[in-house]
Amino acid sequence: MTAVQGESLYQLPEEHQEIRQAVRAVCDAKVAPHAAEADENSQFPQASYDALRAADFHAPHVPEEYGGAGADALATAIVIEEVARACAASSLIPAVNKLGTMPLLLAGSADLKAKYLPPVARGDAMFSYCLSEPEAGSDAVSMTTKATLDGDHYVLNGVKRWITNAGESAYYTVFAVTDPGARSRGISAFVVERADEGVSFGAPERKLGIKGSPTREVYLDNVRIPADRIIGEPGTGFATAMRTLDHTRVTIAAQALGIAQGALDYALGYAKERQQFGKAIADFQGIQFMLADMGMKLEAARQLTYAAAAKSERSDADLTYFGAAAKCFASDVAMEITTDAVQVLGGYGYTKDYPVERMMRDAKITQIYEGTNQVQRIVMARQLLKGLG
Ligand SMILES: Cc1cc2nc3c(=O)[nH]c(=O)nc-3n(C[C@H](O)[C@H](O)[C@H](O)COP(=O)(O)OP(=O)(O)OC[C@H]3O[C@@H](n4cnc5c(N)ncnc54)[C@H](O)[C@@H]3O)c2cc1C
Repeated sequence: MTAVQGESLYQLPEEHQEIRQAVRAVCDAKVAPHAAEADENSQFPQASYDALRAADFHAPHVPEEYGGAGADALATAIVIEEVARACAASSLIPAVNKLGTMPLLLAGSADLKAKYLPPVARGDAMFSYCLSEPEAGSDAVSMTTKATLDGDHYVLNGVKRWITNAGESAYYTVFAVTDPGARSRGISAFVVERADEGVSFGAPERKLGIKGSPTREVYLDNVRIPADRIIGEPGTGFATAMRTLDHTRVTIAAQALGIAQGALDYALGYAKERQQFGKAIADFQGIQFMLADMGMKLEAARQLTYAAAAKSERSDADLTYFGAAAKCFASDVAMEITTDAVQVLGGYGYTKDYPVERMMRDAKITQIYEGTNQVQRIVMARQLLKGLG
């Protein structure tokens, strides 16, 4: 038998456990109290943003060289998980800041990174990611937004749909067609600013959940940007978009974990308090089995998500598979756990007087965005059949 002196064989490093405690303290005090209100009023949770920013949890992944906290992929996942446990809509602040900036981090020039990352690190600006279009969702390659080179500028025209934090974010990674005949190799990525002439936004979508997170269309009407705002070489945008999602699907998995943990924690407390037939409902085996299944599935999802986060940090060859698997599994589990949490609360769970109905509505989106779970299964099957899984 091999003994690892002074080190645990298989547990979170102490530093990561401390990060969890620190985020939980901030979220219990300053994020959770606004969650119901953000949901009820469909309003961006500014108080959460301010609290996360003050504690440097608004964009923890930004490397230290750009003034960021320099959190690794696992620490970033833990931050997002803990924020989502309190308020799923607020967890899209660190999650979408990572999504929006990841193309820059993976493929941007030194100048672009130096210009656009420090404001995000400081919390002066948020960064959104514009891939989807009205007619190009799962089939993102069919996008029609165009970027045309005109001297030393690109001119962008098109409509991006379902853009998280649109209007709130100062910066946008926009994917657009630069070579119409070349399909996925004819797409390029650009940094667009909210302040650029010709950029405007649609009305906020009226959604089932994550209501505090604004989702809008982004309109690009002859938006003229300097050519050096291209991220990477022309024609590499789609590859950058997919590489980004490999990393950020891990953060959606983390969001799903957090939502599910919030629901489980609430259901456990309720089951001990609620009395029927002269005893706490937690004494009934039917409830106990439900709680046991919820805890078991959540922990399995967490282990897969953290393994995927480690692979993201190392950019392992099988990250594509693990990112898809973690997102798909954790989001399916979050939907099951939040639905069961409503069941544990009975009729009360079905009302807005208790948080689990919000958590159930919020969980649903994790099965849809950053690629639906059908798309994740396509990705996983492809990787398995290639022999990379
Ligand atoms: C609240 C919200 C926030 C979002 N934020 C962003 C964002 O910030 N940036 C961004 O770019 N996008 C964002 N999206 C878009 C999101 O990623 C897309 O909605 C998603 O990829 C699915 O695209 P679609 O809605 O067009 O569905 P469709 O692609 O039309 O899919 C409809 C159904 O068909 C299924 N389907 C499609 N193709 C296949 C196939 N080949 N095999 C089997 N089933 C298939 C899907 O799984 C789904 O069930 C957001 C969406 C929402 C709702």
